Amino acid sequence: HCRANWSSDDSDNDSDGSGADCLYRVVLLGDHGVGKSSLANIFAGIQEKDAHDHTGEETYEKTMTVDGEETTLIVMDSWENEKQEEDEEWVQDYCMQVGNAYVIVYSITDRTSFESASELRIQLRRIRQAENIPIILVGNKSDLVRSREVAVEEGRACAVVFDCKFIETSASLHHNVHELFEGIVRQIRLRRDSKET
Ligand code: GDP
Ligand code: MG
Repeated sequence: HCRANWSSDDSDNDSDGSGADCLYRVVLLGDHGVGKSSLANIFAGIQEKDAHDHTGEETYEKTMTVDGEETTLIVMDSWENEKQEEDEEWVQDYCMQVGNAYVIVYSITDRTSFESASELRIQLRRIRQAENIPIILVGNKSDLVRSREVAVEEGRACAVVFDCKFIETSASLHHNVHELFEGIVRQIRLRRDSKET
């Protein structure tokens, strides 16, 4: 069985009639242009050619079967939205509060985005201090080998320092994207199971 409300304010998150026992919010964080929306679209099964029809969409729900058990993830891509600049601070505070798991994305072709990822990790730790939330650091755009600015080893080392998981992905090639979301499900379950014992 599942306990979806082990995080701060999730007491209502299994009441939406989806029929799933396990419902977890996964928040995508990271600089503009690193590939958050591309990863969210792949998660949701939205083809690139149709992506323009979904620009208003910011949350995606999907039930995944991982290791023979079903889990529903709600992926939130609301971190940055140019159209709502005046709301951004509120939205970002909200994102920091509601996630059951976090995906911090940077682009391997953009060192500034890698530095932002560290700042986001620190911010998250400060806001959600007491909680042991799953966090995955994602180096996206691994297909752009010639423009690489951040080595795989740097990403991995950063994840060790920040005590989180690490994976490099390519949204363009769909490489490691399903592995990323499966990894999140496994991280969530590990924490859930250790709480039950
Ligand atoms: P967001 O601002 O973080 O939501 O980033 P987007 O998903 O909008 O992606 C920004 C740009 O990077 C778009 O032009 C994408 O097509 C491109 N992009 C995203 N992921 C990849 C990737 O893995 N490889 C390459 N080559 N381009 C990517
Ligand atoms: Mg986006």
